[in-house]
Amino acid sequence: MTDQTPNLPAAPPWLETHWGALQRARDAGRLPHALLIAGPAGVGKRLLADLLARSLLCHEAGADGLPCGRCQDCHLVGVGNHPDLVRVGPDPEGKSDEIKVGSIRELVESEGLTPTRGPHKVVFIDPADRMNPSAANALLKTLEEPAAGTLFCLVTERAYLLPATVRSRCQRIALGLPDEAQALGWLAGRLKGSDAQLLLRLAHGAPLRALALADTDLLARREAACAGFLAVGQGTRDPVAEAQAWGDLAPRVSLEWLGGWVSDLVRLATDGGAPYLGNPDKRDALARLAAGLDLEAGHRYLQRVLRARASQDNPLNPQLLHEALLIDWARVARKVN
Ligand SMILES: [Zn+2]
Repeated sequence: MTDQTPNLPAAPPWLETHWGALQRARDAGRLPHALLIAGPAGVGKRLLADLLARSLLCHEAGADGLPCGRCQDCHLVGVGNHPDLVRVGPDPEGKSDEIKVGSIRELVESEGLTPTRGPHKVVFIDPADRMNPSAANALLKTLEEPAAGTLFCLVTERAYLLPATVRSRCQRIALGLPDEAQALGWLAGRLKGSDAQLLLRLAHGAPLRALALADTDLLARREAACAGFLAVGQGTRDPVAEAQAWGDLAPRVSLEWLGGWVSDLVRLATDGGAPYLGNPDKRDALARLAAGLDLEAGHRYLQRVLRARASQDNPLNPQLLHEALLIDWARVARKVN
């Protein structure tokens, strides 16, 4: 899932420290040539990169560095057509999802790094971890001899996949999850009629992911899948039929849900009043099932789900995977060996 970039004039509260540090560096003429903006999905990596780009390209930025939103440069950025903001990513038409060396060379070898409208050029490489080794190598040469006025923003959820040589030439900005109260305060003005706390929990604390979840029918799918999972556990639903109902659910989604429900079951079987649940809206139904759960079997089943989740890059047929896991779940919940 990618971060959304709502049209916001200011940095969200949990990015203010990073934003302030960038502006101070800019005022002191110490902005680096390359930033590595890293962190989990949905915490605002692109929001921060985007705000910085707008701020550098705007000709009438305020004293706080925020873009004016009215000048010609702000307009060009807004419509995605500013010549000094370049976005490099995997070719959407390409067969692989790699960033190939050609995309980097094209940028470096032409006049691609010379600003045309002002003193700055901003290049996003996103997701930077998709650069193949030749592309990373071509970029490295550029980072070793940076062009004046050019700022590279490498954005990634998986910084560890980048070569150490590239990482070491970037100033790293590591974004983490905001605290819950701060995230809820920010979401409050943006989620109309939705349960912000539940969405934030389902998004593992990442506010922009929570916002994206509210826009999809995923919540309805989760309701149905959870009802099916509970019914299989109670013995009132056939696991194979339930696996069929999960049909087109991607394992990256279904296994995250399943892992979350089983984690909560194990928590509740250990402590009926467990204060933290990943699925607080399902507490009563999960607690009823947890009361009859064999804790050891529950733990083993949880490990199995987590292993399946970790190996999902190369999945079996999703339906077979769902079938196997739900049949197993029926056995665990009904204490059949
Ligand atoms: Zn402007």
